[in-house]
Amino acid sequence: MRILITGGAGFLGSHLCDKLINQGHELICLDNFFTGRKQNIAHLLGHPRFELARHDVIDPFKFEVDQIYNLACPASPPHYQYNPIKTVKTSVIGAVNCLGLAKRVKARVFQASTSEVYGDPAVHPQPESYWGNVNPIGRRSCYDEGKRCAETLFFDYHRENKVDIRIVRIFNTYGPRMNPDDGRVVSNFIVQALRGEDLTVYGDGQQTRSFCYVDDLIDGFVRLMNQTGTVGPVNLGNPGEFTMLQLAELVLKQVGGNSKIVHQELPADDPKQRRPDITLAKKYLGGWEPRVPLEEGLKHTIAYFKTQV
Ligand code: NAD
Ligand code: UDP
Repeated sequence: MRILITGGAGFLGSHLCDKLINQGHELICLDNFFTGRKQNIAHLLGHPRFELARHDVIDPFKFEVDQIYNLACPASPPHYQYNPIKTVKTSVIGAVNCLGLAKRVKARVFQASTSEVYGDPAVHPQPESYWGNVNPIGRRSCYDEGKRCAETLFFDYHRENKVDIRIVRIFNTYGPRMNPDDGRVVSNFIVQALRGEDLTVYGDGQQTRSFCYVDDLIDGFVRLMNQTGTVGPVNLGNPGEFTMLQLAELVLKQVGGNSKIVHQELPADDPKQRRPDITLAKKYLGGWEPRVPLEEGLKHTIAYFKTQV
C-alpha cells in the first residue's frame, strides 16, 4: 500500500514509519518539524519506498494514498501550550484536511487521539464509553478539546460521507527517540538523572499514569488500522499504574548517580489518575496487550538517552 503518515518525524511517527517500511509499504512522511526531528527518520532518507514532505497539516495537501495515519500534533504539555491557538488549528484543521483527502481518494484514515479526552477522570480505569471530565477553558484545553473536536469530525465524516475511519486513544507512551527537551515526565526524569540533576516531581508526586512502551503501542496501531471489527475509539496503553514518585525512584535506581527528588508546583488541571481499560483492544485487536513491563522499557529508553545527553 501507499501510506501517508502525518507527524511521521516525531517520536511515535518515526517508529510507525519503521514498522510500515519493514512490512513492504510505500510511505509519505509529512511533518513541519515543530517537535519532530530529522534524525528520527535519517535512516529512512534515501530508501526507495520512503518520501519526506516538509509541510504543515493545516495547509491542504493531496496525495494518492490507500491509508492515512494522522499523528501531527505536539504531544507534550510545554510544547502544545507554547502556541495554544496553533495547537487547536493543528488538531482541528489537520483532521479536516486528512478527512477531506481520505474522502476524495477513498483511503482509510486513522486518528491519533488521546487519553486526555477523559480529562481529570472521575471514572477509573477509563473505558471508551466514559465521556470524560475536561475543562474547556484551561491551559490544557487547546490540546484536549482540539483532540475531542477531531474525534467529532472523524465520526461526522464517517456518518455523513462514509469515510473509513479508525480512532485510537493513546495513553502515556515512552521510548527511544523522545526528544530530550520534550518535557514529558519519562524523558525529563531520565535526562535529569543522566545529567546528575535533581528529578522534578510536580506536586506531591501521588498522581498516577500508566506507561506503555512504544513497540507495544505501534503494534496496536497497525492491528487497529487493518482490522474491520471496529472503527474505535479504542484505548491503547499499558494498564500498569504508577505514581510519579514511584517512576522517579525507578529511574534513579536504574541510572544510579547522586540525583535527588525535588518537588515543583503542580501544573493547573493536571489529571490525578489515569489507567486504560483495554478490554476493547484485547477483543478487536487479536488479543493485543502490552508485553514490555516498565522496568524493561526504561532500560531501553535510558540506553537511548545515554547517546543523546
Ligand atoms: P511528537 O511531538 O514527538 O510528534 C508529533 C509530530 O507532529 C512531530 O514530528 C511534529 O513536528 C509534528 N507536527 C506538529 N504539528 C504539526 C503540523 N501543524 N503540521 C505537520 N506536522 C506537525 O509527539 P508523539 O508522542 O510522537 O505524538 C504523536 C501523536 O500521538 C500526537 O498526535 C499526539 O497527540 C498523540 N499522542 C501521543 C501520546 C504519547 O504518549 N506519546 C499520548 C497521547 C496521544
Ligand atoms: N511531571 C512531573 N515532572 C516532570 C514532568 C511531568 O512530575 O518533570 C508529572 C506531570 O505533572 C503529570 C505527569 O508527570 O502529573 C505526566 O506528565 P506528562 O507531561 O508526561 O504527561 P500528561 O500529564 O499529559 O499525562
